[in-house]
Amino acid sequence: MFSTCVNGGVFLKVIIAEYAGFCSGVKRAVQLAEDSLEKQPIRSLGPLIHNSQEIARLQRLGIHSGDEEILSQTSEKGEAVLIRSHGVGPQIIAELKDRGWHVIDATCPYVKKAQKLAQEALKEGYQVIILGNKEHAEVKGLRAWTKDTAIVVASWEDLKDINLPPKVAVLAQTTEKEAKFNELVSYLQGILDEVKVLKTICTATQQRQKAAQELATKVDLMLIIGGRHSSNTNKLWQICKSLNVNSHLIEEVGEMNPEWLKNKEIIGITAGASTPAWIIKEVVMIIEENNEKEVGIIEEQIDVNSNDDLLELKSFNPGDVIKGKVVKINAEEVLVDIGGKSEGIIPLEELAYKRVDPKEIVSEGQEISVEVLNEDKDGNIVLSYKKAQIEELLDKLEQAKESGEIITAPVIEIVKGGILVDVGIRGFVPASQVDRNFVADLNQYLNQELRMKVLELDRSGRKAVLSQRAVLEEEYQKIKGEVWEQLKEGQVRQGKVMRIATFGAFVDIGGIDGLLHVSEMAWGHISNPAEVVAEGDEIEVIILKIDPIKQKISLSLKGLIKNPWENAIEKYPIGKIVTGRVVRVAPFGAFIEVEPGIDGLAHISQLSQNRVSNVEEVLSVGQTVEAKVIENDPVKKRLSLSLKEIATDIEKVEYENYLGKREESSGVTIGEILKEIGQKL
Ligand code: SF4
Repeated sequence: MFSTCVNGGVFLKVIIAEYAGFCSGVKRAVQLAEDSLEKQPIRSLGPLIHNSQEIARLQRLGIHSGDEEILSQTSEKGEAVLIRSHGVGPQIIAELKDRGWHVIDATCPYVKKAQKLAQEALKEGYQVIILGNKEHAEVKGLRAWTKDTAIVVASWEDLKDINLPPKVAVLAQTTEKEAKFNELVSYLQGILDEVKVLKTICTATQQRQKAAQELATKVDLMLIIGGRHSSNTNKLWQICKSLNVNSHLIEEVGEMNPEWLKNKEIIGITAGASTPAWIIKEVVMIIEENNEKEVGIIEEQIDVNSNDDLLELKSFNPGDVIKGKVVKINAEEVLVDIGGKSEGIIPLEELAYKRVDPKEIVSEGQEISVEVLNEDKDGNIVLSYKKAQIEELLDKLEQAKESGEIITAPVIEIVKGGILVDVGIRGFVPASQVDRNFVADLNQYLNQELRMKVLELDRSGRKAVLSQRAVLEEEYQKIKGEVWEQLKEGQVRQGKVMRIATFGAFVDIGGIDGLLHVSEMAWGHISNPAEVVAEGDEIEVIILKIDPIKQKISLSLKGLIKNPWENAIEKYPIGKIVTGRVVRVAPFGAFIEVEPGIDGLAHISQLSQNRVSNVEEVLSVGQTVEAKVIENDPVKKRLSLSLKEIATDIEKVEYENYLGKREESSGVTIGEILKEIGQKL
């Protein structure tokens, strides 16, 4: 990557070192932040980068950073917060989500891989040891993935006084030195039976230093761009100076001195990890502007005019999943352009789990994901397509699990205790996670598409546990808030009976469930709610009461029906003979329903002209009888009935009829007969 200027046959060549500037992890984080800005305002949890000019640029774009204060704040509008490339522990992500933040995870894939390995090692029962700086954000985050159980050491010597269990897993902060890590591994292998070595060191820093070192030997001026307090920039400067090449460290273009350029033929440029491409580009432009010679040719290996410039140069580590373009398909292998010096190779056995014609799987020109396996003896990068597919899928599921993203998958089988869904791997939805309410028959879901959240993911076992209920619950809570605002006591709403209990029914009135108590189902006596409603019934209900504190709503059906007591005085005047059904007997009398909602009481003393000691001698439940209204109090909702009076009235009429005949024959009046009876008494 170089630009060349010509003047009168004299070339001024500017060479930009490989791997100069942002590493891929930092570049990815900045890119994600800028992309997200298009949708919403964004803040980063901690500074995205240690470069004041880049920070100023990001702030101008609207990307601000915050730290602890974000963790203590609640985001009302679901603003976005970006997790920078260092990563954080799972608790912090969960806490941010709980507080309503939309989390964008820009954790560097290398760091992510280290987090995963540490977490898995803990699950497998290893004591995790991390080589690194315990105050560094990446190490704090890594340790959090081991539930804060990992031991952090700055070198193997820190372990001398620690009693270790027989089984340890060891990994390093991604920017640690390989040699230091190897020392630690050797020490552990010397004292323990089982040492699991997890390769987590990222080679970005080494590659940047190696490239700067190589370039410094070929140029007569080296410009090192980066922060004066940045250790990796200073290291680059040291390397260049140690090679006796004329070297200058500059933080920004304003520090460039045109004198440095005089009589130079080849100028090399490298940059620290926090230096964005646009600053490198500015330096190149200043060199061109301050070059009095005529510029003849500009030739670049890296396009400094592009945003995708320096960082598109690839380095490959085993286990990396990268994108590439299929350039050739042979009978035994597939060649893929992965942006390296030469094409990567997918051997046939790494294309699919069974032997197939490669053209059935990929086609020339197709962009695919591949996993880096190793380098063969000829220096070719060996790739696996099949592993990348499963890894890509597992990554997507893991991301969905962390972000709470909803995924859709078909139900393939109903099994004991739940449902199996096809999410690319075996997904299990426990019965309790199928719906917000209990589902008696899961077969209704067979072949249906479910929208679910990932609850658990077992990468090594390739299994996931999912929940449709979590999605429904979240939607329910959202709707609940909106519907809650609209509700008023006395309001009539359309509802659907969701569940029946012994004491009533739960009715969905537009996203919220209210209780329709059995006593509110009808004016008459209901012993079982199922007599009135069934699950799934669409009904109209009236809101009786809203309790916003307990979040409870009481509903009524009978409130929509006219109260029968309202005209009971006209319908049931004293003396009226009514027909009713015995609905209940008690030791003191029987309740007779004269219409739904009006039960009259026939007291035991009013059941017969004869003395009654047990109500059931005279009446039984379900029996239809005639009775006379002897009292009607609509205020107290009391209707007193008498069977005895009917019998007495009949006798009286019969007696009157009889006396009428006697009067006719003897001329004696009824009054005289009663008087006669009274005297006898
Ligand atoms: S792990 Fe490597 S690529 Fe990732 S942020 Fe750190 S230095 Fe950059």
